[in-house]
Amino acid sequence: MTRIIAIANQKGGVGKTTCAINIAFGWARLRGAGKVLLIDADPQANATSVALGIPFANGPRRAGVGVLYEVLLERIKASAALQTVQVEGNERYPATSLDILPAHLQLAEAEAQLMGEFHREYRLKTALAEIQDRYEAIIIDCPPSLGVLTMNALLAATEVIIPVEPGIFPLVGIQYLNSTISKIQKVNQALHITGVLPTMVDRTILARDTREQLVKSFGAAILPDIPRRVVVGEAHAAGQDIFGYDPDGEITQAFAAVVREVMARD
Ligand code: ADP
Ligand code: MG
Repeated sequence: MTRIIAIANQKGGVGKTTCAINIAFGWARLRGAGKVLLIDADPQANATSVALGIPFANGPRRAGVGVLYEVLLERIKASAALQTVQVEGNERYPATSLDILPAHLQLAEAEAQLMGEFHREYRLKTALAEIQDRYEAIIIDCPPSLGVLTMNALLAATEVIIPVEPGIFPLVGIQYLNSTISKIQKVNQALHITGVLPTMVDRTILARDTREQLVKSFGAAILPDIPRRVVVGEAHAAGQDIFGYDPDGEITQAFAAVVREVMARD
């Protein structure tokens, strides 16, 4: 069974994209070439920018190269939008490859264009049926909202990982997300929360309090902390995963621990 994992939180800037990229690339590095698909479901297309370059994600659309927008509007099949990314190896992590189903800024129009369309929230699930068996894991980077794009992700997914940054009210937003997930479980019984992932964790009292609150609500579902480190932004700018940019870094070890833990929670 392919694991389809949505990285979701309707709050922006909590580390969803960073986690989606590094869980997908980390999984590909630990498990080998061709086993992972990363789907960019955010119109900001940041994951696509890192994997395929900013000109692809934010520049003019290229003729004949498919993107998620067209898949959701049923203009092309998912297989027509896949691109394979070759990932260089280093002394710690082997070379690998993974597929990406990219986003383009134009995805922002999909929400309005899908309004009133039949089965608009099932477009991704339907499209993935064609290709999902090729992969061990499919990681979906969700946008910061609970609109039709996130609904498509949650209806296609078997699992959710919720990144949470240190904050005063981390649980308020998550409870809302939780109730959305409960509603979706009525039609997608497979869906479950695989983990809550504390991101951008630093030595502040706020970060410690946040973790305490999360443990109270989610207990064993809490994944290992991802520390706050400037190399994250540097790696993004260099178009690399953290395993390639900073193989010996503390944050890289943290992501490796998270990937192993997620794999073990099958
Ligand atoms: P989201 O997808 O939830 O909006 P991002 O992954 O894009 O969040 O992260 C938001 C910002 O925070 C980005 O500029 C990113 O580089 C930065 N960031 C994310 N995770 C970390 C981290 N662990 N340490 C430092 N900066 C981070
Ligand atoms: Mg994002």
